[in-house]
Amino acid sequence: MYQTSWFTLINFCQLLKSCIAHKNLLTGKSLHTLYIKSVIPPSIFLSNHFILLYSKCRHLSAARNTFNLTPYPNVFSYNTIIAAYVKEGQIQIAHQLFDKIPEPDIVSFNTLIAAYANRGEIWPALKLFDGIRDIGLELDGFSFSSIISASVNNVLLITQLHCLVVKGGYDVLYASVNNSLVSCYSKNGFLNEAKRVFCEMNGREDEVSWNAMIVAYGQHKEGVKALELFQEMVKRGLYIDMYTLASVLTAFTSLVDRLGGLQFHGQLIKMGFNSNPHVGSGLIDLYSKCGCSMLDCKKIFEEIPERDLVLWNTMISGYSQFEELSEEAVTCFRDMLRVGYRPDDCSFVCVISACSSSQSPSHGKQIHSLALKSDIPSNLIAVNNALVAMYAKCGNLQDARRLFDTMPEHNVVSLNTIIDGYAQHGLGHEALHLFNWMLEIDIMPTAITFISVLSACAHTGKVEEGQKYFDMMKRKFGIVPEAEHYSCMIDMLGRAGKLLEAEQLIESLPYNPGSIAWAALLGACRKHGNIDLAVKAANQVLLTDGSNPAPYVMLANMFADAERWDDVAKVRRLMRNRNLRKKPGCSWIELNKKVHIFVAEDASHPMIREIYEYLEEILLKIKHVGYVPDVRLALVKDDGIGEERVRRLVHHSEKLAVAYGLLSTKEGEPILVGKNLRICGDCHNAIKLISAVTEREITVRDARRFHCFKDGKCTCGDYW
Ligand code: ZN
Ligand code: ZN
Repeated sequence: MYQTSWFTLINFCQLLKSCIAHKNLLTGKSLHTLYIKSVIPPSIFLSNHFILLYSKCRHLSAARNTFNLTPYPNVFSYNTIIAAYVKEGQIQIAHQLFDKIPEPDIVSFNTLIAAYANRGEIWPALKLFDGIRDIGLELDGFSFSSIISASVNNVLLITQLHCLVVKGGYDVLYASVNNSLVSCYSKNGFLNEAKRVFCEMNGREDEVSWNAMIVAYGQHKEGVKALELFQEMVKRGLYIDMYTLASVLTAFTSLVDRLGGLQFHGQLIKMGFNSNPHVGSGLIDLYSKCGCSMLDCKKIFEEIPERDLVLWNTMISGYSQFEELSEEAVTCFRDMLRVGYRPDDCSFVCVISACSSSQSPSHGKQIHSLALKSDIPSNLIAVNNALVAMYAKCGNLQDARRLFDTMPEHNVVSLNTIIDGYAQHGLGHEALHLFNWMLEIDIMPTAITFISVLSACAHTGKVEEGQKYFDMMKRKFGIVPEAEHYSCMIDMLGRAGKLLEAEQLIESLPYNPGSIAWAALLGACRKHGNIDLAVKAANQVLLTDGSNPAPYVMLANMFADAERWDDVAKVRRLMRNRNLRKKPGCSWIELNKKVHIFVAEDASHPMIREIYEYLEEILLKIKHVGYVPDVRLALVKDDGIGEERVRRLVHHSEKLAVAYGLLSTKEGEPILVGKNLRICGDCHNAIKLISAVTEREITVRDARRFHCFKDGKCTCGDYW
């Protein structure tokens, strides 16, 4: 291009435009070099196009350089570079550039308003919106849709804007303005207003309007209406896209309407939409949340030839909702990596939460190091919260706290997570300390915060403080106590031996207490040996939850404690007649990434002989320091000699898992054992002494909480 003619210049422009359209940075750059070196007179038109090229190819510094070198930038140059900064999230610089435009046009305003709107920053957006009218520019549909979307959390503003819209006749001119109104009204719970706007469009509505209305019905759990609207769309031959279909699916999911969802799935297959990844995500979400098996979800997943990240994330999240499928969630995550997807923050949050319920803490650690190596920023609060929860739930409170302390900022979820971690470990003092710190730094506690706070008080016997926080929750924060809060209170009173007060609280509840409240009292009765109240509580639990074997087992245990063997037999007979079985207890330990599961009197483990021998050895040692097997907990009638009872007792699953852990790890290494039921008193006692004689830290995570045994003591202070 050393020789210019109009012909080559036109070709040059066409080539540049094609580079912009195809984001072809390499060719574009050579064109730019050619342009600078050529004799083409500096053209603002070409400069602007080079800014656009760099912006499209996300080469911000080159875009800025080109802009700076443009001798007399016009409003189009400004708009292009502003849009480039907005695209990269650098809204402040964008705004500084905006302030320098000699005569901004409506596009300049709209770009910046939309940028603030997307970040939920309503005030700067409103100021700009007013600025448009101040300098006498004509508002357009885009200005209105953006400012309405920015006001989504302020229904008063939306109504005011709605008046402005109607006054100026913008609702007639632009469908997009009405669509924003429909969405915003719906998000604020005003379904009727949304419906009114939609109906008043009267033939001017476009596909987006229909979608917005279907979403609105879904948000208000009106799945049937959403479906009707969808069918109307089909009837009218309107263009149906995956967003419409996903909205209908969301409606069924929110309704937990499995049958309706299945029928709709049939329709989707007929229309050939079932292989779309976006629709597939909606289907998997529906199936996994409506009590279908994950096998069905997997089938849907496998039938989609072109998968995207959202689809993979939905699948991982589906698995992570089932505690027993945590392994599958991790496998699915690994499969995703294997086929070349780069996980985003959502993938990590899903797989980390699956690891929290997993039996093997090593998964969580591996995923954490993957997250650190990935290109997601390490300060994402949702990912960090998930990690803190994972470490706490896997019994590793130290790492949970370390991570919590290094987080650059905390939100209410972070605080709830760490407080719950301490409460679960029975470290009530630390839990309450963090709660008070939370109030100091002005993070508003939620109903969930108080469940942890109250359970921390219950687990540590702080009855007075618990009462104080319970009142604070109601009075200061206006939180209406729910069943969980009451059962914490009942648990707290019961554990402290205030059984009658606990019973009175249950009977004064403003609603039908249900089985959880009575079960809490039943547990307390066992601890304090009040059989009469226990029988009453057990009957109440069974009234609402007749297929639950736990109350029977609890009663049988209590009768056995009191040596009332006839009553033990009676309870057992009742259980047999109702076909109820005690949930078999089992304990597990993860060693070298393999989980070893033990049941009482286990005979299946390949090293079982060594384990029994080693256990005998340790038991002998702890007998020297005062261990006496608590045969009452063996639950079999004395055979006269007591040997059978002792044998059964010492072969409980948690003792076997602990023995195996000690046998297979290095001296001084801490071990973590999981148990599906509550730890029994005899094992608790024995493991305390074992921690002393072996000088090991032993953590047992049972169905209720963590017990960290060290130097002959447990963190629960025997208060559990
Ligand atoms: Zn035991
Ligand atoms: Zn304990």
